[in-house]
Amino acid sequence: MGNIGTVSNAVITSEQLAGWLRRFRDLVIKNQTELTELDSAIGDADHGSNMARGMTAVINKLDQGRSPHVNDLFKTVAMTLVTSVGGASGPLYGTFFLRFAGMAGPTIELDAEGLDMAFRAGLAGIVERGKAEAGDKTMVDALSPALDSMEAVIKSGGDLDAAVTAARDAAAAGRDATVPLVARKGRASYLGERSAGHMDPGAASMSLLFDALADELAG
Ligand code: ADP
Ligand code: MG
Repeated sequence: MGNIGTVSNAVITSEQLAGWLRRFRDLVIKNQTELTELDSAIGDADHGSNMARGMTAVINKLDQGRSPHVNDLFKTVAMTLVTSVGGASGPLYGTFFLRFAGMAGPTIELDAEGLDMAFRAGLAGIVERGKAEAGDKTMVDALSPALDSMEAVIKSGGDLDAAVTAARDAAAAGRDATVPLVARKGRASYLGERSAGHMDPGAASMSLLFDALADELAG
C-alpha cells in the first residue's frame, strides 16, 4: 500500500490526508510520555495525554466513515479535537484544522500550493485565537518556520515532496529553538524566566504533525 519512496507526489489525496492523520495519531501515542514530560517541566503534565486522547478520538471518528472531501474531513477532525481535548491545545489545534478545512474547500486532493494555503490559514487561526508571536515559545514556533520553508521550496520550483520535507526539517529546527526561549503565552508563561531551558511541548507535537506528513508522502 502507498507509494514507493521514489515515486513523487504531484498532489496529496484525501486518502493520503487521512493517512497523515492516522500517522500523527501513531506518533503522538509513541511520543506521549515525552510530550507529557516536556509539559511537566513547564506546564501541567497533560500535553501527551491531551493529544493522545484527541487523536485517538479523531481516528475512531474517521473509522466510522468519512467524506472524500478535504474540507469535511478536516472539519470532523477539528470538531472532534475541540470536544475531546481540554486545555489550550484542543481549541488551538481545533482552530488550526477548522481553518485548514475552510481554505481547502470541497476538493478531493491538494497540490503543493493548495496544501500550503490550507496550512497558512490554519496558522492564522492559531495566531488569531492564541495571540502568540514568533519567539513566544509555542507551537507557532514550529509551524511558522515550517510554512516559510515550504513556500521557499515551492517558489523555487520544488515539488510537493521537497516542500514537505523542507517543512518537516524546519518544524524540527523551530521546535529545538524553543528550548532557550522564555515563554510568553500559555501556562509556561507563568514560570517566566524559569521556562527557559525546556522544549515547548506544543512545538514538539506540531513537529510530529510534519513528521507524519513527510512519512505519509514517502509511502
Ligand atoms: P494546557 O497548557 O492548557 O495544559 P496543553 O498542555 O495540551 O494545554 O498544550 C500546551 C501547549 O499549547 C504549549 O506547549 C504551547 O505550544 C501551546 N499554547 C499554549 N498557549 C498558546 C497560545 N496562546 N498560542 C499558541 N500556542 C499556545
Ligand atoms: Mg498542559
